[in-house]
Amino acid sequence: MRKQIAAANWKMNLTYQQGEKLLDDILDTKIKLASHQLTIFAVPYPYLLLTRSEVEEGTNYFPAAQNCHHKKSGAYTGEISVEMLHSLNIKYCVVGHSERRDYNGETNSMLADKVNLCFENFITPIFCCGEPLHIREAGSQNDFVATQLRESLFHLEPQVIKNIIIAYEPIWAIGTGKTASTEQAQEIHKYLRSVLAKQYGEAVADEIPILYGGSVKANNAKELFSCPDVDGGLVGGASLVAADFIEIIKALKK
Ligand code: PEP
Repeated sequence: MRKQIAAANWKMNLTYQQGEKLLDDILDTKIKLASHQLTIFAVPYPYLLLTRSEVEEGTNYFPAAQNCHHKKSGAYTGEISVEMLHSLNIKYCVVGHSERRDYNGETNSMLADKVNLCFENFITPIFCCGEPLHIREAGSQNDFVATQLRESLFHLEPQVIKNIIIAYEPIWAIGTGKTASTEQAQEIHKYLRSVLAKQYGEAVADEIPILYGGSVKANNAKELFSCPDVDGGLVGGASLVAADFIEIIKALKK
């Protein structure tokens, strides 16, 4: 059964103490997840160990890094390698968030290197794709996201890519309060799955979770997650409020 995932992206928010309280408030509710359901907290690097120790071993709650460097190691002051994350027993890493593509000049080819390093280090990439507003307005979103997948992922073997998580995040909906409609979300998720199926076959495409990201909130998560090709969400703003993120976790399909 395909995984369903509620993934929090804290970005550069919260002090250590605020983060600890937020985790406590969410985890104290002990929401029981089915075996194919996961909750992932993509937290700032200094909070990874705290998050790892707060989530109980053997549950379906996991910490994730928000980024990693595209080189294995070396003279890259201030950067964090995938090997370092692996040495902390981190199992998930967000790769190619639109903010990093925009502000840090991350290209599809750099992201291919990050994805490779993640898999070599037993870390599942949460690979973000999604179009800016002018591309959506021109109606070219399908070609845009297909190119992102092709240039960053399609060198992978089927037995490798089947383990990835994809997050479709239309840039015009991130942090703007604008959410894609359920029809828009389902349409492009279905398209992304068809692109994966064309390259790798239906069986592989059917295994890959495709999350929606872009102003997911407590009051729209259930409707978005009910779409057949939406397998959960990558959530920014609403993941910083315990009561909201709790509702988003609960919105995963039964
Ligand atoms: C994100 O950071 O990936 C995101 C989707 O943010 P928000 O939920 O705030 O739009």
